[in-house]
Amino acid sequence: MIIVMKPGATKEQVQHVIALIRDYGLKEHPIYGTDRTVIAAIGDKRAVDKGAIENAPMVDRIMPILAPYKMASTEVKKERTQIKIGPKQFPVGGRKIAIIAGPCAVESKEQIFRIAEAVRQAGAIALRGGAYKPRTSPYSFQGLREEGLKLLAEARKRTGLAVVTEVMGVDTIDLVAEYADVLQIGARNMQNYPLLEAAGKVEKPVLLKRGLSSQLDEWLLAAEYIINAGNPNVILCERGIRTYEDYVRNTLPLAAVAELHRRTHLPVLVDPSHGTGHAYLVAPMSRAAIAAEADGIILEVHHDPEHAISDGAQSITPVALARLMPVLGKIAQAIGREV
Ligand code: PEP
Ligand code: MN
Repeated sequence: MIIVMKPGATKEQVQHVIALIRDYGLKEHPIYGTDRTVIAAIGDKRAVDKGAIENAPMVDRIMPILAPYKMASTEVKKERTQIKIGPKQFPVGGRKIAIIAGPCAVESKEQIFRIAEAVRQAGAIALRGGAYKPRTSPYSFQGLREEGLKLLAEARKRTGLAVVTEVMGVDTIDLVAEYADVLQIGARNMQNYPLLEAAGKVEKPVLLKRGLSSQLDEWLLAAEYIINAGNPNVILCERGIRTYEDYVRNTLPLAAVAELHRRTHLPVLVDPSHGTGHAYLVAPMSRAAIAAEADGIILEVHHDPEHAISDGAQSITPVALARLMPVLGKIAQAIGREV
C-alpha cells in the first residue's frame, strides 16, 4: 500500500509512519517528492490495521498498490526517474536523450579505442562493449573478460564517456562493477533472480534488457527484484522479442516503450541493433524509437563490421552513426526533447 503524507509533513512525522510500517513487519520505501512524501509499504499486509496508520499525524490517505511490481510502478511514483551515469553524470530519463554506442564485444585495444573515439566525436554519451559475452555457442568468442574491462576503463579515461558493459553472473558482479558505470543485465539473464538480487546490492545503475520471450509484467517484476534489493537505479531496454518473423533477428515492439511509460517511472531505452539484426534497419528503427519517446538508444557500432568478431551484421559504421545523430536531434526537437 501507499501512504500519502499531507504537504508539509515533517521528517519526524514521516519517521513515525515508517516506524509503524516496520512494527507491522513491512518494508518502507519513502519517496520524497517536491511537495509531498509518499511511503510505499511492501510486504504481507494481512495483519496491518490500516486505520492505525491513517490516524497518524499528517497522513493524508492510504491507497492499495494494484500493480504486481510496486516500486517500479507509476502508482507509487508519478515523476519519471532520472538516473545519472558516468563521469559527467548524464541524466538518463530526463529531457535529453541518451545515445549509447559501441561494439558488441571489446575485441582489442586498438578496436575499442578507435570506436570509443568515433562514438565520442559523434556526440554519444556512453560507450557500450561486452567484456563478458553471452554466446549461443560455447565455441564462439566469449569476450576478453577482465582484460576487456580494463580496456573499457581506459577508453573512458581517454574520452570521458560512461561505460556500459554486461555482467553475466553473481561471481563476477563485483569485478564488473569496479570498472563499469552501468551494469548491463542481458536478455538471457533477465530472470536470473540471484543475479538481479546481487545487482540490487551494487551502487551502480543497472540496464535491464527485456528477456527474449518476456511479457512486460515479467520484465517489470525483474526490475522490482533489483529495486527491492536496494538499487532504485534501473534503466529498462527493449531489445526485441522472439516471434515467427524471420526477416529480422528479433521483432522490435516500439509500442512497449509508450506502454512502459504508462506503467513505470523508470527510463526506457531501445536497442535497434539486437532488435533487428540488420545494420540497414538500425537507422530507421532508431528514428522510430526516438519518436516513440524512448529515453535513449543503444547501438552497436564497428569500424569494420565485416570483420567484427560478433554481431557484424547489425553493427553500423562510425560514419553511419555520425550521419544518424543530427537526424535524431531533429526528431527529438520535434517532440520537445534534445539529443
Ligand atoms: C548485447 O547487448 O551485446 C547483448 C548480448 O544483448 P541481449 O542481451 O539483448 O541479447
Ligand atoms: Mn551484440
